[in-house]
Amino acid sequence: MAIGEVSHTGNMKIILLFGLVAAVLAEVKNFDGEKVFRLMPTTDDHVLLIKELANNVKLDFWRPDSVDLVTIDMAVDFHVPLAHTDIVYTMLQQSGMKMGVLIEDLQAEMEEHLDSRDINPRAHSYTKYNTWDTIQAWIASISSSNPELISRQVIGNTYEGRPMNVLKIGRKSSSTKPSIFMDCGIHAREWISTAFCQWFVKEALSTYGTDSEMTSLLNQMDVYVLPIFNIDGYDYTHKTNRMWRKTRSAQSGSSCIGADPNRNWNAGWCTTGASPNPCSDTFCGSAPESEIEVKNVADFIRRNKSSIKAYLTIHSYSQLLLFPYSYTFALAEHHNELMAVAKGASNVLRSLYGTEYTSGPGAATIYPAAGGSDDWAYDLGVKYSFTFELRDTGRYGFLLPESQIKPTCEETMLAVKYIASHVQKNLY
Ligand SMILES: [Zn+2]
Repeated sequence: MAIGEVSHTGNMKIILLFGLVAAVLAEVKNFDGEKVFRLMPTTDDHVLLIKELANNVKLDFWRPDSVDLVTIDMAVDFHVPLAHTDIVYTMLQQSGMKMGVLIEDLQAEMEEHLDSRDINPRAHSYTKYNTWDTIQAWIASISSSNPELISRQVIGNTYEGRPMNVLKIGRKSSSTKPSIFMDCGIHAREWISTAFCQWFVKEALSTYGTDSEMTSLLNQMDVYVLPIFNIDGYDYTHKTNRMWRKTRSAQSGSSCIGADPNRNWNAGWCTTGASPNPCSDTFCGSAPESEIEVKNVADFIRRNKSSIKAYLTIHSYSQLLLFPYSYTFALAEHHNELMAVAKGASNVLRSLYGTEYTSGPGAATIYPAAGGSDDWAYDLGVKYSFTFELRDTGRYGFLLPESQIKPTCEETMLAVKYIASHVQKNLY
């Protein structure tokens, strides 16, 4: 082949590549000038007004998870599309409701929250919000370079065909060890959650053999880590819409995409705090486990039910440590023990940087919501079932700056190790 032809092909490739980059860039949703409001409804009229606004304007609820969950005396955070900012602001002002602006310009905040100073291109960064491609490469390399402590298995593919890898961390044993299952990134936009699972794996590997608590844990137990649960959604938040929450599955009879993977479990499914409307951010799905990612994880936990003693699921934001139940106000059979563990874990978490957590059963502590993974795991027989809602309490919300990844992960590690240690002491 002549040199000219090679270079011509090369040019064509470059031109094609630029074309692709331009096409991808063009698709990215822009949030210039869009605001996030914080409201404090204190009367039924206030709640009614919020519901009316939500009926007429596409509000993106940050907290609670949807408009249906709004009640009086609760902090309500939502993001308003630019075209409706003025009317929403005016109506709220006229209502006399206590309100403030959490984020003045969502696009600016989105750019500012990527403030990591970690620029070493050779090492995986644990203080950045990594893309799915980067995390996928990390999963492969960290498991192959630590074969004595990590093994990995693909538990199935996502809706769009991405492999769901579970890392099993622990000293190799010929017999089945008791275990803990932990997942991150059920909700796509909760990036700090995904960062935590990577941090946990790094810490487990680097402190095994020096930290007595971690060494004992990994000698006696295995920890299964699913670094990203909702990979399709996570990839979408990086490439197209930073505020995406749900899965990316097509829904029959609707042009809306995805279901809420934390409303899709067979635990009081869709009875409360979840929506049957495919366009809602808390859509429960067409049936329990309709979302393939939920089915894959549920199948894995069912298969390993006899060994799994604890289930931990990491979300953000609000600084909460929750346990069953969320689908009912009834107290869990092990309520007192779970409450004591949650309080102990919150105390040890606070000891590092003073971060305050609230703990308790989901329904009573925030609001009733059915179809959550923690309730499902608990009813399956996994007694130590906890949901973390990491930093913060709303200043940055889902846009927690990268500079907070390290302290957030450090304090969360203390709480996770506290729970693990309790589980280890109470193996049955
Ligand atoms: Zn979440």
